[in-house]
Amino acid sequence: MNRPGLVQGKKALVVGVASERSLAWAVAQALAREGADLAFSYQGERLGERVRALASEVGSTVVEPCDVSRDEDIDALARAIAGRWDRLDILVHAVAFAPREALAGGFTGNTDREAFRLAHDVSAYSLVGLVRALRPLLAAAAGSVVTLSYLGAERALPNYNVMGPAKASLEASVRFLAFDLGPEGIRVNAVSAGPVKTLAAAGIPGFRRMLDHVQRTAPLRRSITAEEVANAALFLLSGLASGVSGETLYVDAGYHIVGMAFEDPPSGSG
Ligand code: NAD
Repeated sequence: MNRPGLVQGKKALVVGVASERSLAWAVAQALAREGADLAFSYQGERLGERVRALASEVGSTVVEPCDVSRDEDIDALARAIAGRWDRLDILVHAVAFAPREALAGGFTGNTDREAFRLAHDVSAYSLVGLVRALRPLLAAAAGSVVTLSYLGAERALPNYNVMGPAKASLEASVRFLAFDLGPEGIRVNAVSAGPVKTLAAAGIPGFRRMLDHVQRTAPLRRSITAEEVANAALFLLSGLASGVSGETLYVDAGYHIVGMAFEDPPSGSG
């Protein structure tokens, strides 16, 4: 017997697709598989063509530009969505940025005021800005919001630098949005993903070493896939998680619970 999809007929906006490797794209595919109608936004015309092509693979023609560092773009995106749909059941926020120079070397030396401002603006405030603009549509649907975070929100590690404080701000924003919008039936959650090779991840020096380290020390002795992130996001965005809000759910092969690990040797070394 065919079961209805977990998000059958739900209206979903996905912010943060840049390539077929994007975590946002994996989430979009999971949502499409489970019956959602999708809209996408993209940053800058350079990505427009690629995102339109990906959107068409999941039957979507609603593809709007939005640089999340610009209020007027966020407002225009909200107007475009309101012009199509009278409600928004799902918002996926998968956006982060910090200047390349800030993502290497020492945190103290490489975090100037502008890098700090930009990282927090694009990676954390953008969630608040989008939810503010889309609030009437989300409230009309008692909608669900998911953003993507990383362990750097809570732990210090090499090179991630200013993105750590920005992700801490993002996760705190998730809690404050959930607290504020709960009375309107809106749920807000985060997935804290382990390392997955994407365009954004490629910008972090030593990413390969991070991945190797996780594979040797995470309880599951492997890294995770974009599909695993997407399935956890799908759960939070679906009715299965109707009682969950303000939560950060780790999808990291258990890495974040480890206090001390004796690293397994790299595979193939006997
Ligand atoms: P990605 O490069 O595919 O996605 C990052 C997205 O941010 C891109 O679509 C880019 O266009 C968008 N973006 C950046 N600045 C923007 C702006 N000003 N306006 C609009 N969009 C903007 O990489 P990804 O790894 O899929 O990243 C998605 C999210 O997942 C990020 O929040 C990232 O921190 C998070 N995350 C990634 C990993 C990982 O290992 N890949 C792990 C944990 C969390």
